[in-house]
Amino acid sequence: MLKLKTTVLALALASAATLIAGVPASAQDKATVGIAMPTKSSARWIDDGNNMVKVLKERGYNTDLQYAEDDIPNQLSQVENMVTKGAKALVIAAIDGTTLSDVLKQAKAKGITVIAYDRLIRGTPNVDYYATFDNFQVGVLQAESLVQGLGLKDGKGPFNIELFGGSPDDNNAYFFYNGAMSVLKPYIDSGKLVVVSGQMGMDKVATLRWDGATAQARMDNLLSAYYGNKKVNAVLSPYDGLSIGIISSLKGVGYGSADQPMPVISGQDAEVPSIKAMLRGDQYSTIFKDTRDLAKVTADMVDAALAGKQVTVNDTKTYENGVKTVPSYLLKPVVVYKDNWEKTLVDSGYYKKSQFQ
Ligand code: BGC
Repeated sequence: MLKLKTTVLALALASAATLIAGVPASAQDKATVGIAMPTKSSARWIDDGNNMVKVLKERGYNTDLQYAEDDIPNQLSQVENMVTKGAKALVIAAIDGTTLSDVLKQAKAKGITVIAYDRLIRGTPNVDYYATFDNFQVGVLQAESLVQGLGLKDGKGPFNIELFGGSPDDNNAYFFYNGAMSVLKPYIDSGKLVVVSGQMGMDKVATLRWDGATAQARMDNLLSAYYGNKKVNAVLSPYDGLSIGIISSLKGVGYGSADQPMPVISGQDAEVPSIKAMLRGDQYSTIFKDTRDLAKVTADMVDAALAGKQVTVNDTKTYENGVKTVPSYLLKPVVVYKDNWEKTLVDSGYYKKSQFQ
C-alpha cells in the first residue's frame, strides 16, 4: 500500500513537472516587470505606460507601473521599491538620466535586466539595453520642417529664428538639438537665418524639465528684449508642451493675425492639443513617435533577456552613456503636418477622429 502511494505520488509529481516545462507560464507565475515613467503631465508618457502594461500582460508578465511626476527622489524610491519587491526586469524612462547609478548597482547584483526606455540612462555600467527612436533624426525632421515652412529652399529669406532646447538632464535633448542644428547651421552661417537674440547652444537654450511655462517665460523675454521692431519668423521647439508655451507668449504680443502671422513652429509627440494647434495654424509641424511600437520593441527585449536569448538591437555605436555604449534599438520618427496628420495618426488607429472634433 505504501509502495502504491509512493508510485502515485511520483507519477503526480512527474506530470506536474511536465506541465511546468511544457505549458507556457501564466500571468501568476511569470516575472514582474517594473516600469518607471517620468510624469503624467504629458499624454505621451501616459500612452507609453499603458502600452507597456498592455503588451507585457498579453505576454503573461505582471507589471508594476509607476509615475514620478518629474520628481527625481520620487522616481529613485519607486525604482528602489521595484528592486526590493523582486522585479526581474526594469523598464525606466528616467527624469534625470544620471541619478540612478546606486539603485542600478543593487539591481545588477540581483541579476535584474535593466532597459532604458526612450531616454538613455547615463554614468553607469548597469544598463543593459536602450529602446528608443532615432533621436538625432527627430531633430533633423524638426529643422527640415522649419526650412520647408519658410521656403528657404526656394531661396526665400533672410528670416529671424529663435531656438529652444529640451531638458539639460535628458540625453535626448542634445540629440534633438544637434540633429536640428545639422540642418539649420548652414542657413545661419550664410545669413539666411538670423538668431536675433544670438542665443545658441544647449547651455543657452535648454528648458529644464521640458516645462512649458519655462519656455513661455523665455519667449516673453526674447520678444521684449530683441523684437521691439522686428518679427520672429520661426521657432525651433523640440516638444509640443514647449510649443504651447511659446505660442501663448507670441499670441500675448499679437502674433496670429493677418498682419502679424504666427512664426513657423515645430514640436514633438503629436499630442492632441498640438494637433489642434496645427489645424488652427498656430503650430506648423510635430513629430509622431508610435509608442505602441516602442512598447513592443521593449517587451521583445524583456522576453529575450529573461529567456537568456539574444536581444535584438539595431545600433551598437551611437549611445555612449559615459561608461559604456549601450546596445540600442532605434525606431523611426515621422514628421506630421496639416496635410498628413489624419493618415498618420487616425488611419493608423493611434487616435480617434472624434478626439479632434
Ligand atoms: C522624449 C520626447 C518628449 C520629451 C519630453 C524626451 O525624452 O524623447 O518624446 O517630448 O522627452 O517629455
